[in-house]
Amino acid sequence: MCPKTARAFTLVTLLDFTCVCSWPMRTVAVLGGGIGGLAASYYLCKSPQVTKVILLEASSRFGGWLWSTRRSDGAVFEHGPRGIRPAGAVGSNTLNMVDDLGLAEEILPVSYSHVASRNRYLYCSCVCVCVCVCVQLADIAVDSLCRGVFAGDCRKLSVRSCFPVLYNAEQHRGSIVLGMLLGSGEAQVISRGPLAKRSKKESWAQWSLKRGMQSFPEAIAENLQQSGRVQLHKEAVVKQIDPSASGCLVPLFTALSSVLPRSCQPLTQQLQDISSVTVAVVNLEYDGAILPVMGFGHLVPSSEDRGLLGVVYDSVPFPQHNRPDGQTTRLTVQTNNTLRHSQCVSEVTPPENCNQLFADCIPQYYEGHFQRVESMRGFIRNNNLALSLTGSCYDGVSVNDVIFSGRTAVEELLGTVV
Ligand SMILES: Cc1cc2nc3c(=O)[nH]c(=O)nc-3n(C[C@H](O)[C@H](O)[C@H](O)COP(=O)(O)OP(=O)(O)OC[C@H]3O[C@@H](n4cnc5c(N)ncnc54)[C@H](O)[C@@H]3O)c2cc1C
Repeated sequence: MCPKTARAFTLVTLLDFTCVCSWPMRTVAVLGGGIGGLAASYYLCKSPQVTKVILLEASSRFGGWLWSTRRSDGAVFEHGPRGIRPAGAVGSNTLNMVDDLGLAEEILPVSYSHVASRNRYLYCSCVCVCVCVCVQLADIAVDSLCRGVFAGDCRKLSVRSCFPVLYNAEQHRGSIVLGMLLGSGEAQVISRGPLAKRSKKESWAQWSLKRGMQSFPEAIAENLQQSGRVQLHKEAVVKQIDPSASGCLVPLFTALSSVLPRSCQPLTQQLQDISSVTVAVVNLEYDGAILPVMGFGHLVPSSEDRGLLGVVYDSVPFPQHNRPDGQTTRLTVQTNNTLRHSQCVSEVTPPENCNQLFADCIPQYYEGHFQRVESMRGFIRNNNLALSLTGSCYDGVSVNDVIFSGRTAVEELLGTVV
């Protein structure tokens, strides 16, 4: 178990390169061993241009927020992500990687016809019956969606950055509804491997892994180890980097924005301007079947409770993670930092609960986020810094987005498709 205090940034930096044959052979350092850093290392290993990758992770384990507890009685609890969507180019990209890592047999799919996909609840104690009811419901739904995905405030978040599918649908078809029906003309095209084809054929809505999400980073780390080209370092806190130098390895400090030198002040400032929220996650286990309704879970609008974000009914989509002897119900309660811990557990005395406070775990894409990220990348380009930004702070927070961002960062860094 690692205390989670570090912000979700991953940087890929080129350390040096030596010219061999017609292409430069490179050593690349990857800072941060969350799913973003692991994915970047995985794609770097696919390139013949890269001879060595050095992956530096501050904590004692790889995977970042992909973190599962496997109890000795067979029960599995997720502290971070619990389901990955197979949809779209980014979903296929992740499934292609899962296939390549040999994890296909480990997949636990949940189809669209499953009760967990059909029923997703909003907790509303009362909805006023008046002519404004549709507007009120739409407001409640958007508010809850922003809280469910970003643990954030819908009045501040940018639709373009947080929900690019909705934004592109609206831009492409002139209406979100039409865009969603007719397709938003997705820019990225990823060919589907066997697992992605299967997900389409069997109509998966989401998937997990038999031994929990943590199996995913574990499999990537093992794959990197076996490649013989990656040095994996745990408990290696990066404290300073020099993105203009070649061949130097980094001495070390604390906050990420302080790892950049003074010459990168505009970049440092913009990194600091990306705020993030803290989420508390409480895993609960009850004996017996205690749920009054079946579904994925329920989101809680801020009008009902500012602190409570929602409750996921984990044992409905993934009963395979229940302990095998006897019936149990597993739930995950997610709260933001306006709810005191004692409030969220005081009303229940379940036989098992485990709670974690994840500091600064979800970056907030406020208005102007898109332009800020463009500007940061512009600064890197204009100053010829051997540096690339990837991870959940920039191009999407879902596991799929972060993996795809790792791939894009590597392609930009090497100037070639991997
Ligand atoms: C509670 C929760 C539930 C979620 N649920 C879902 C879900 O169901 N589905 C979904 O798709 N997504 C979900 N997400 C989002 C997704 O899990 C994250 O966006 C993603 O895992 C972030 O990956 P990352 O590699 O960018 O960052 P991180 O996982 O934060 O990894 C960054 C790594 O960098 C390391 N590090 C930081 N600073 C330094 C330093 N100076 N030197 C060396 N190492 C450093 C950290 O220790 C960490 O391991 C969830 C997130 C949370 C927090």
